[in-house]
Amino acid sequence: MAIDDREDAVGSSGPTAAARSSADGPLIDVRNLQTAFFTEKETIRAVDGISFDIDPGETVGIVGESGSGKSVTARSLMGLIESPGRVLRGSSIRYRGIEAVRAFADEFSKRTVDIADLEAAYDPDELFGSTAATPEEFGYADPASVPLVDVAAAGYTDEIGLTSGTECVFVTDGSASTPEEIRGGFIEISRLSGEPQRKMRGGRIAMVFQDPLTSLNPVYTVGNQIKESLRQHQGIRGKEATQEAADLLEAVGIPDARRRVDEYPHQFSGGMRQRAVIAMALACEPEMLICDEPTTALDVTIQAQILDLLAEIQESRDVSIMFITHDMGVIAEVSDRVNVMYAGEIVESADVIPLFEDPKHPYTRGLLESIPGGNVDGKLSTIEGSVPTPNEPATYCRFAPRCPKAFDECHEVHPVPIRVESEGESDHTASCLLYPSDVPTAEAVARHSRRNQAGEEK
Ligand code: SF4
Repeated sequence: MAIDDREDAVGSSGPTAAARSSADGPLIDVRNLQTAFFTEKETIRAVDGISFDIDPGETVGIVGESGSGKSVTARSLMGLIESPGRVLRGSSIRYRGIEAVRAFADEFSKRTVDIADLEAAYDPDELFGSTAATPEEFGYADPASVPLVDVAAAGYTDEIGLTSGTECVFVTDGSASTPEEIRGGFIEISRLSGEPQRKMRGGRIAMVFQDPLTSLNPVYTVGNQIKESLRQHQGIRGKEATQEAADLLEAVGIPDARRRVDEYPHQFSGGMRQRAVIAMALACEPEMLICDEPTTALDVTIQAQILDLLAEIQESRDVSIMFITHDMGVIAEVSDRVNVMYAGEIVESADVIPLFEDPKHPYTRGLLESIPGGNVDGKLSTIEGSVPTPNEPATYCRFAPRCPKAFDECHEVHPVPIRVESEGESDHTASCLLYPSDVPTAEAVARHSRRNQAGEEK
């Protein structure tokens, strides 16, 4: 790769995550996530090679129209993808909370691998020469560049001599002799199953869905459902659980919580039901909340109350939040950082203020101009057409048929994430052939082409 390409190149292994990490690194590190649905007619690449991270205590927004892959991303993180869909090999979702890594290493020691123990035996040429694995699927051009930890995390455990059942916790500092001494590592949550998956889902990561009625069982009282969560994840039972359930309902703003704990979901209003679902999610004291359109079904005043509640919860409990919505106004209110998704890909990523003040990707601009009052002319714009079904490999810009700036090459070259200039923001990327904007467009297109050929787009 040419030096000028390196300066604006962004890959999963590039400086993006490291530059934004807190001292302890991100809590979740998603790399090259690919989730596909296999039907008789076609393969739908609902999530097609996205990478992002979420720091402890940070709210990361995922925004885009329906069909852009937001909810499939959330479900992939939660391990909720069902047949005919699956998270493809080569994807990695790393949970880096160090307490969770230590706890899992202690409880599931047979599924814990110290990567340092394997370095000496790892032969990348043998792996890539004898299997279908390719360096490109990891974002590298040659086998020798692919780190062992990526290979292991992406599911090639059998091929590198790890027995099955060991693909759970990866310790990466190589100096720990006991779980308490572990200083670095992650739990590969895309490959969890059974008990470890149950402990992660609903234990460390909880989810709040759009429609609270799908999360609440109509034949049990709200209190009983919160108590079940307390029993499963914290081992709290009996009177203590009843008291805790009432406290949680009170904490999420349910009036007269001690009486309401014995009521059924149908006795709650829509906003109160969503509060109850949030209380259920909090019952397991999660480190991360995934909120999938949690306010879409609510009227606007209740929506504001739920957003305030989530902000309070984040501040008081220091949880990370992944917030999914199609509503740019909501994203502006809740997010620290925003990933804009289109047809299975992240097309722009930036901190919230630069994204709103200086959007770079034509799709993001279109979304912002579609907000009432968002257009400088005062006219309400729309983006003509609809999101295509991503049923073929991305060898071109999927937004091209709807893009007002499209030119011939947009139909032939796949744009890769490029770091863009934006005031006060060093980590703003856009996947568009118009960037980098400080070189002629032909040169920019050539850079995207070169990076595609080198397999560095992921
Ligand atoms: S690559 Fe072309 S079609 Fe795609 S967003 Fe940029 S200008 Fe529009």
